Amino acid sequence: MTPEQVERYARHIVLREIGGPGQNKLLGAKVLCIGAGGLGSPALMYLAAAGVGTLGIVDDDVVSLSNLQRQVLHDTDKVGDLKTDSATAAINRINPEITVVSHTERLTESNAADIISRYDLVLDGSDNFETRYLVNATCVALKIPLISAAMSQWEGQISLYDPANGGPCYACVFPERPAAGLAPSCAEAGVMGALAGVMGSMMAGETIKHITGAGETLCGQLLIYDALYGEMRKIKTSANTSCKTCQQG
Ligand SMILES: [Zn+2]
Repeated sequence: MTPEQVERYARHIVLREIGGPGQNKLLGAKVLCIGAGGLGSPALMYLAAAGVGTLGIVDDDVVSLSNLQRQVLHDTDKVGDLKTDSATAAINRINPEITVVSHTERLTESNAADIISRYDLVLDGSDNFETRYLVNATCVALKIPLISAAMSQWEGQISLYDPANGGPCYACVFPERPAAGLAPSCAEAGVMGALAGVMGSMMAGETIKHITGAGETLCGQLLIYDALYGEMRKIKTSANTSCKTCQQG
């Protein structure tokens, strides 16, 4: 590390669980974030600040005025711009050392493996179940761990899925996608803006722990946060032996 890096990351380096070796792991890490929206915004900002060396962003959307209530990576003057462009500019302002890779496209069956295989860890902050199951299946096939978070109205949930190391995959815990209309989008149901800050920051925190080996990750545990009553609980999860996604072959 350069003297500037030692100063920039001093508060991490002084932590016993991270230290110089942990900070070097962060500097060498490649993390992909699916979606630069409510969850992706704080996750990307904190990972950029933490010095995660390469941050990939998958998003094909443009910034809209109704995003700004919670998507704090984007400013009012970025309305109409691509979220990948707005996110790259914001990350560069936070930490110009970070290599940002924009994937300005929708994740599909045909590009998912090619994009995801370039990274060590994937964060899913997408807003639809089709993408969630596709990201999970691709991460399972490539043996890449996945931190997946979701939120609706006042409640959020997060876990780390790493079936290659014994934990369940996303489809073990959520085997069936909800029927149309049963899981309304944020646009339909609403979401409290600061909840995105809590859940996206948790994604960044779990990422930092996973990369540095600090503490215990949420592998095998689903954390649920109810912001309306300020309550948090954890549910133990385990691999489903009949999971169609991770138990075949
Ligand atoms: Zn599974």
